[in-house]
Amino acid sequence: MLILEIFRKPRQGYRVVSSRKKHGAFISQMITLPFFTPGPSQLYPGVAGWMQEAISHGICSLSHRSAAFEEIMKGTIASLRELMGIPPAYLVFFLSSGTEAMERVIQNGVKDVSFHVTQGAFSERFFAMARELGKHPLRKEFAQGMPVDLSAMEVQSSAELICLTQNETSTGVQIPVDALLQFRKKNPDILLAIDAVSSAPCIPLPIEAMDCIFFSVQKCFGLPAGLCVLIVSPRAMKKAEAIGKEQSIGSYHAFPSLATYAAKNQTPETPNVLAIFLLGKVCRAMLTTGIGAIRQETEKKAELLYSFFDAHPSMTPFVEEPSARSRTVIVIRVPDGSASVISSLKTQGLIVGAGYKEHKDTCLRIANFPAHTVIQMERLLASLK
Ligand SMILES: *Cc1c(COP(=O)(O)O)cnc(C)c1O
Repeated sequence: MLILEIFRKPRQGYRVVSSRKKHGAFISQMITLPFFTPGPSQLYPGVAGWMQEAISHGICSLSHRSAAFEEIMKGTIASLRELMGIPPAYLVFFLSSGTEAMERVIQNGVKDVSFHVTQGAFSERFFAMARELGKHPLRKEFAQGMPVDLSAMEVQSSAELICLTQNETSTGVQIPVDALLQFRKKNPDILLAIDAVSSAPCIPLPIEAMDCIFFSVQKCFGLPAGLCVLIVSPRAMKKAEAIGKEQSIGSYHAFPSLATYAAKNQTPETPNVLAIFLLGKVCRAMLTTGIGAIRQETEKKAELLYSFFDAHPSMTPFVEEPSARSRTVIVIRVPDGSASVISSLKTQGLIVGAGYKEHKDTCLRIANFPAHTVIQMERLLASLK
């Protein structure tokens, strides 16, 4: 098996090499490396200990039909509700990934026509998914890196569901929360789905103004991948039930099936019990720190990064308009090529992401998640000087 080994060399920071050695002795050092990759990313502090706790308490072997599991699920959902201000009437479901959530939202929220605002790879995926599922999606496309201006946008009356990517992880463009709210006021009657995969819970999303909101845990929550949270409004539930009378809305993960099991604090299938347990722990830890403090620190680190790159002689933010700049995924244009910067940072034990797809060689992506400390950011910037 090929594993990544990291050797601590005195005074030189970390050296990362691939090796065919099987021994896991270096794995423990790997987790000390700051991963600034936009997901999976740095683990939230405490995760290693909670994993150990899960193992010693038998949580990985627990039946998902047991009362003990129901307690875990109930606790995690209660913590999520508190952390994100989820209204009591909204339901909270667990899926396997953000990509799955796109599919479920289209299947359950659209009989025929969805409307998409696209600007980069993830919003494009959402749009393509609707086509793949046999729907007739409409779209408004914005140039990559440019602000998504919703103020003048008209949505065709045939649209049943509007799909917005609040934080486009491929380009580092965000839709500011007040712009979302104004857009909502202008279009109160159409269901609104928000992909908040790489921004929740770091921005104050007004959940009560939306119908389907989803995020996966390997981004801002600092957990291993393999779990996604989908929040559904009462009217989105009604719509799913209505569509379900006429056509397929999927099977075990159709909203009504998810709701039936959620009422018992269960899931239709055997879920990622470990991840549900860990998510509860991270939510409690975030509540202890305070979500306000986390959001403030996110803002502070984002400002640190953007002002550094605004002043940098060659590397510049991919998004020029300040209000459109993502707070959690900072995309940097590197005209001389990103590969050498990435590998040079790696030798110092700092792992940053490459640009997404066609921007792979010309951009860097730096995650600014709650697991990243101000000190780590400063260290990263000092290395980029
Ligand atoms: C990562 C990401 C996804 C995909 O989530 P998965 O859990 O990897 O399927 C979707 N949308 C956005 C904005 C993302 O950042």
